[in-house]
Amino acid sequence: QMATAPRVDLDGNTIRPMTICMIGAGGFIGSHLCEKVLAETSHTVLAVDVYNDKIKHLLEPAAPAPWAGRIQFHRINIKNDSRLEGLIKMADLTINLAAICTPADYNTRPLDTIYSNFIDALPVVKYCSENSKRLIHFSTCEVYGKTIGSFLPKDSPLLKDPAYFLLTEDASPCIFGPIEKQRWSYACAKQLIERLIYAEGAENGLEFTIVRPFNWIGPRMDFIPGIDGPSEGVPRVLACFSNNLLRGDPLKLVDGGHSQRTFVYIKDAIEAVMLMIENPARANGHIFNVGNPHNEVTVRQLAEMMTQVYSKVSGEASLEVPTIDVSSKEFYGEGYDDSDKRIPDMTIINKQLGWNPKTSLWDLLESTLTYQHRTYAQAVKQATSKPVAS
Ligand code: NAD
Ligand code: UDP
Repeated sequence: QMATAPRVDLDGNTIRPMTICMIGAGGFIGSHLCEKVLAETSHTVLAVDVYNDKIKHLLEPAAPAPWAGRIQFHRINIKNDSRLEGLIKMADLTINLAAICTPADYNTRPLDTIYSNFIDALPVVKYCSENSKRLIHFSTCEVYGKTIGSFLPKDSPLLKDPAYFLLTEDASPCIFGPIEKQRWSYACAKQLIERLIYAEGAENGLEFTIVRPFNWIGPRMDFIPGIDGPSEGVPRVLACFSNNLLRGDPLKLVDGGHSQRTFVYIKDAIEAVMLMIENPARANGHIFNVGNPHNEVTVRQLAEMMTQVYSKVSGEASLEVPTIDVSSKEFYGEGYDDSDKRIPDMTIINKQLGWNPKTSLWDLLESTLTYQHRTYAQAVKQATSKPVAS
């Protein structure tokens, strides 16, 4: 449906249509953000990525969709393409989502990880600053690293005090492991680009917003190995566990599955990004945690819940032994390390944008695994029944 009634921001002002240069628009978050912007606003998207499979449905020229003419795809690798500055100049706002952001890469491809998350983001920041363009940059909750509480004895009563684990944008320290734990190459590169953006704001007046996603999950996240991605590839946990469930294999718990995460539904999180896009006066100069503090589980609990939900949506019985333990060295190789616990403090985003997540973990897994089953079950069956070609 066409967005005809004028959209108003949180202060009641009419929002004028803008042009958004979205870098990494073909990824998981980008695809959902493109959908939302096209369906509910009159903004135009200059979509930049090396891939467009996840936004193909928005690019079909034949579709007489309400967004016809409001999205252009530019197949550009931002590492080395002189067209980037022109696109940023043409836009009112740049959103940078481009990154290598799968943990399996951090310790095995540390150079690519550091270049992607720091060096390749530099020109984007520079062009925004020089041309006085607003920037929304995607960082990560991983910049917090480990919690202070992870250094307390396991039986310490202080572990119950939120001061030892709650992650707060303007107060918590960033705690990484040693250099040989290359897991932290990603977090460290993201931290340095955050500091650079912050400094561009302080010294040169760059209008910026930094987003720290806390495990956003949902349809189109990553890939299913051997179906729409490399068979040896290791995606993030949602896709790993989905892949195991689709194949009827046990879910692999790394180092006991004791790490804790809070998961937020992608559609809830996208609402937060929309508020940032359309309320610059409230979002500029801020760093925002975006997550769901009420959806905390251990990875083991996540595995158990996904097993139950998948059985419900697929109608297939679950395995008698649904999980197996695997060491991080076996699963990720040398140099892996982990964040112990991630609970976002929601105070700042609440105060500035009035945003709150809505969807429970069970509900978001139900809609996501319904999508996974509908999208992949057939292809996985075919792939596993075919004799292997020699
Ligand atoms: P994604 O991998 O699905 O999307 C990233 C996109 O960037 C991909 O489509 C990729 O092709 C593109 N890209 C990478 N390098 C590029 C280059 N040189 N030129 C052009 N395009 C390039 O990941 P996502 O989950 O959508 O994450 C988006 C951003 O959010 C990343 O910066 C990531 O670090 C951050 N983030 C996401 C989460 C999450 O929960 N999903 C958590 C923390 C941080
Ligand atoms: N994990 C796991 N089994 C898998 C994939 C991941 O136990 O098949 C664990 C991983 O070690 C980490 C958590 O799940 O503790 C979340 O991993 P993810 O790759 O989603 O990213 P992270 O939250 O660490 O950035």
